[in-house]
Amino acid sequence: MNTDEFRRRGHDLIDWIAAYLEHVEAYPVLSQVRPGDVRGRLPAAPPPAGEPFDAIMRDVEEIIVPGLTHWQSPNFFAFFPSNNSYPSILGDLLSSGLGVQGMIWATSPACTELETHVMDWLVEMLALPDAFRSTTSAHPEDSQGRAEPATRAGGVIEDTASTSTLVALIAARERATGGRTNMSGVQAGALTVYASNQAHSATEKAVRIAGLGSDNLRLVDVDASFAMQPDHLASLIAQDRAAGRTPAFVCATVGTTSSLAIDPLPAIGPICREAGAWLHVDAAMAGTAALCPELRSIHAGLEFADSYVFNPHKWMLTNFDCSAFFVRDRAALTSALSIVPEYLRNQASESADVIDYRNWQIALGRRFRALKLWFVIRTYGVSGLQEIVRRHVALARDFASWVKSDPAFELAAPPSLNLVCFRHKSGDEATMAILDRLNASGRLYLTHTRLGERAAIRMCIGQRATEKRHVEAAWAAIKTAAKEVAGK
Ligand code: PLP
Repeated sequence: MNTDEFRRRGHDLIDWIAAYLEHVEAYPVLSQVRPGDVRGRLPAAPPPAGEPFDAIMRDVEEIIVPGLTHWQSPNFFAFFPSNNSYPSILGDLLSSGLGVQGMIWATSPACTELETHVMDWLVEMLALPDAFRSTTSAHPEDSQGRAEPATRAGGVIEDTASTSTLVALIAARERATGGRTNMSGVQAGALTVYASNQAHSATEKAVRIAGLGSDNLRLVDVDASFAMQPDHLASLIAQDRAAGRTPAFVCATVGTTSSLAIDPLPAIGPICREAGAWLHVDAAMAGTAALCPELRSIHAGLEFADSYVFNPHKWMLTNFDCSAFFVRDRAALTSALSIVPEYLRNQASESADVIDYRNWQIALGRRFRALKLWFVIRTYGVSGLQEIVRRHVALARDFASWVKSDPAFELAAPPSLNLVCFRHKSGDEATMAILDRLNASGRLYLTHTRLGERAAIRMCIGQRATEKRHVEAAWAAIKTAAKEVAGK
């Protein structure tokens, strides 16, 4: 493909994407293909010679699109959203076009500095504690009032919340052992980790990968609203200490995956401080709500956190992947993850005046993800993003009120922000039959969970284009499906 053809195909592709997003509502939301259908239509062998771009695009339309679940559909209410927006798509495209690799500051200073800057903007936009700003010293200043660069706080873009939780745990592990586990590995059973029984499975995955072992993960009980019970956390920590173990890491969730429950950080924080355990706060989807001052109570107690993550790639219009991870003491992270081979040595890194983000993540290489986030923030402005969050939260409130006033349905958990969990009153079988019927219709997509041992349907409203009419249509479809299931 030469430059002229790239220019022509690029314009066509942007038109194609614009038309797709404009009409995405018309597709069945959940892909209706069967396992193997997509591969069965692809040639077994790669093409020996290059093919025309038209042929590739024809296969995109005929083979790939039918095999898609349309996450950007305004009728996508499943899981948590993974929404995008036009400026984000353009920012991502620009990142591909520039093709820079920002592993260290020297390999593209703008890639690092824009990222640090945009992370600081997020601190301000979400009113996160100042302790997460890149300019804040994690330790007292020296006698001349200077903070050592290596001991400051700051934010970084990781690929996912799962990775953010893993790197937080690795930093906590090193802090708890004074750096010994880097050299000699983890002593079996020495370190313990705590998360509520509603925490995302990413915590257990991190515990396994970091070598702590699932046996050393304690699942803390939750209350009637599915939020962590601090008293139970305190008693589990006390038991472990009495048995000679070191409580190293607590993962609290602001917005659990099942029901968007908010763990009580004001009570959890002091327990972690007293035990010397690292407090990591996972606000993967819900964190975006803090753009709106009236919703910021979700972050009460965040000042106790050692690290915090939320995903702009869920609810903040920045397409996957973009996970904003903040750490109070960057030295804890970089001392755990930094190894300096000869071939990466350079003057800027050695001066300690710059950030080398490779030391804040698992991989060496890194894309220029800050561009798409910067494009989104600048295009929408804070007020534009707030408006979208407020619309979704208001729609979820309406939906919850319809569920509450319908004699056939009940809420399965307190509605929280943009998520409503509900069930049919006649039991799990009816609830799941309604869900299956709705998803098979292709008109909308919902997923389920189990709350208090019972099935519940989750209605999460977070797509950029979702309006009142989509939520009203979803509710009408739910009521119709319930009648059909009852009449069977
Ligand atoms: N934490 C919570 C609370 C989540 O809900 C999710 C995903 O939905 C994750 C972590 C994992 O997110 P990611 O796909 O960015 O790893």
